Amino acid sequence: MILCANFKANKTRQETRAYMAVVESFVSANDITDTIIVFPPFTALEHDPRNVLIGVQNGYPVKNGAFTGEIALEQLEEFGIKTILIGHSERRHILGETQEQIAAKFRFFAEQGFLIVYCVGEPLEIREQGHEALMAYIEKQFEGIDLTYSDLVLAYEPVWAIGTGLTPSNSDIELLHGALRMKTTAPLLYGGSVKVDNAGEIMALENVDGVLVGSAALSANDFCDMIAQAV
Ligand code: 13P
Repeated sequence: MILCANFKANKTRQETRAYMAVVESFVSANDITDTIIVFPPFTALEHDPRNVLIGVQNGYPVKNGAFTGEIALEQLEEFGIKTILIGHSERRHILGETQEQIAAKFRFFAEQGFLIVYCVGEPLEIREQGHEALMAYIEKQFEGIDLTYSDLVLAYEPVWAIGTGLTPSNSDIELLHGALRMKTTAPLLYGGSVKVDNAGEIMALENVDGVLVGSAALSANDFCDMIAQAV
């Protein structure tokens, strides 16, 4: 299983240090062999975590240059970062990233050999149009994306399930993940209102290889509880 905690714009550097201490000692004390990835904000990046991968929530697809306000490869390399989240719905819908920009990021960071957690997901009005419309929408989020990339993890996060407490039914998750499985051999994560109460059940579903957790993973103890439920 792969379990990811996406902090978004939460936590200071000090809070992140305390969090990592809890998660790292839990992972070693329990001989956890699952892949655990934490995506803190840029300001809380630290070099050399031990048994937990640290990824970034974003990155600008150049080595360095005149891109005010952006963080590029050179800065990530300084922290030994080789894992990145690309295509998250908040970047698509709140920060206005286009599929073209997202695909450019994907290409660049794939060329650099990053582990890419690539996110797709539909808004509610698309979901309400049924499975075919949903798949057509997600297909567009695959434009310019190499689904055969060897270090790809694909995360399905319905926009309407993020931070709302709503989740698709288990059979809807299985239906969608089954369709994604036909497209790629990459591990498939589910994200959107995953919490201690439903993580185990969701991870037990067919074609679910892990979870991408936002708000419920802000508590290190809760994230550890979810790790303990990995099957
Ligand atoms: P929530 O777990 O807060 O719904 O967020 C999910 C998410 O966006 C993780 O990337």
